[in-house]
Amino acid sequence: MKNAIDDNRRLYNLDKGLRRIFIDISDGGHLLLKINGRDIDLYKVIRGSGLSSGYIRFYPSIKNMIDRISEAFRIYSSKYGYSGDIYLIYPLKTNSLEEILDHIIIYGEGYNLGFNIGSVEELRLLGKYIDKPKTLIIDGVKNRILLKLAEKFLEKGWRVFIDIESRRDVELLKDTGFDLGLRLKLLSPVSGKWHGATGVGSKFGLNISDALKLLEEYPWLHEKVKLLHIHPGSQVTDIESMERVFSEIIQMYKGLREKGLDSLEYIDVGGGVAYSYDPYSVDYTVEEYIDRLIASMKNLCIGDSCPAIMFESGRIITAFHRIVFSRVIDIRPYTVECRDGAGFPILEKIANARTLSELNRYVREAREIITRLYRSSSSMDVDRRMMFEGLESCIRRLVSEKFHELYGIDPNIVYNVSSYPNYTLEYITSPSYRFMVESSFFRDIPDHLLVDQYFQVVPVQRLNEYPEVLAVLSDLTCDSMGEYNIHYTQQLDKALFTTRDKKLIGIKDKVIRVNGIPLHIPRRDEEYYIVFLETGAYQDMLAMNHNRIRLEGEIIIDYCNGEICVRTRRL
Ligand SMILES: *Cc1c(COP(=O)(O)O)cnc(C)c1O
Repeated sequence: MKNAIDDNRRLYNLDKGLRRIFIDISDGGHLLLKINGRDIDLYKVIRGSGLSSGYIRFYPSIKNMIDRISEAFRIYSSKYGYSGDIYLIYPLKTNSLEEILDHIIIYGEGYNLGFNIGSVEELRLLGKYIDKPKTLIIDGVKNRILLKLAEKFLEKGWRVFIDIESRRDVELLKDTGFDLGLRLKLLSPVSGKWHGATGVGSKFGLNISDALKLLEEYPWLHEKVKLLHIHPGSQVTDIESMERVFSEIIQMYKGLREKGLDSLEYIDVGGGVAYSYDPYSVDYTVEEYIDRLIASMKNLCIGDSCPAIMFESGRIITAFHRIVFSRVIDIRPYTVECRDGAGFPILEKIANARTLSELNRYVREAREIITRLYRSSSSMDVDRRMMFEGLESCIRRLVSEKFHELYGIDPNIVYNVSSYPNYTLEYITSPSYRFMVESSFFRDIPDHLLVDQYFQVVPVQRLNEYPEVLAVLSDLTCDSMGEYNIHYTQQLDKALFTTRDKKLIGIKDKVIRVNGIPLHIPRRDEEYYIVFLETGAYQDMLAMNHNRIRLEGEIIIDYCNGEICVRTRRL
């Protein structure tokens, strides 16, 4: 049992990043949230809530991130002798639910907290806190309504910077009392899904040529422009891209000052700090980012005087806090059941393969037969159709069983099979079940559909048992896109197979992607739950209302007078 728990911790990537701090597995195999020395048993909490699906909102993780970022700035400013002020600017775009903003205001007390907004509605939300003046960065497309509202913040003592991104902006901001920012485009290519955020033709900001032209045409800008603002795009996955961005900022800041813009005092380095949703794609931590950032910006200090830095990453602050939970309501075989025989000689061949290369050869043959049969399926009579369905499912089953058997003889074949794309690998990492879960992926994890974002799925129970099968998850919408089947396993210390359908789910010293989620078959009368971790950034805002699937409720985990409290909110 202990072995299964340890292996599952790694199989579901629970020993990394914030998961290592906040998540664990109980001896009884339940998923736990750990906070303040307390273990919150998620299976019990979900059962106790009476909800069969919904969100867990775990606010302590937001506090943890804010404290951690501030602490890192303190440490590295001191390490490099950096004397400029540091601002934590929370971009509302990443999650502007009122309850989130309330928490950020509280947790940000004692730090130089500010907000970045890009729309009138986002600014309206901040109206609730207008009597506690902070810093405000406004970018995006502006209009008179937005500026009028921003005036109110100015009157209440807020420090308001508005970005200039076009000639129209300059005209709009003439004769206003705001401090101005220059939002400039970056040219360095960056890694990740949002790499389109940089380049001469990118969506936001000015190229340096345009910026200089405007400064020449409107000399009054020279007194008003205090801020240099850039943003490399969300989720920049490698630190080298980030370092190039820092160098670009330095060049632009120095260059602009040399061209006479000596009112510049602030640098907003934008967001981009990546969250590790999967075990392999992000190669740095927020601490390393801050270390390199300060080391770079140190180049801009003249004597004791260094520009103020604004840090604007929001994804890493809110990502962890929301966990989607969902009951499995139905399990279905992925294809039909494989009844023996089916009468095709190819099955015989696969069953008798003695080596991996023989198996590969027969699997390729099988694929050719299947492709041919699919093409002729419109004219198949019912009996033939049944034979064909049987063949498909028997091949799926047999290949996995055969591979597992060959692995027993020669464990090295997992390296051989996984070293290049091939049909055998496809079969042994493909699902054999479909689990219907009470969720709408369009609402709960829209980025999965929009940008193929990975979200870690973990069962809430039976984590003291090895997973039995590989399953694709299907949601409640009537849309075939409402499926989730990606699972990455990190480097393990041995190969792992599901216990029932013998699917390959892990390899020693290698990260692999399998096309289903390793799960257990719910027992008779067992209520089986799964969670999607780290859905707290962007997903609340992007949620789609496909098929009007109703959200049942939320489980709130928060500090109440210093203690941790758990409550359920039905919606
Ligand atoms: C979206 C955005 C951010 C937030 O970036 P993340 O890396 O996703 O946290 C910060 N600044 C600006 C200007 C943005 O548009």
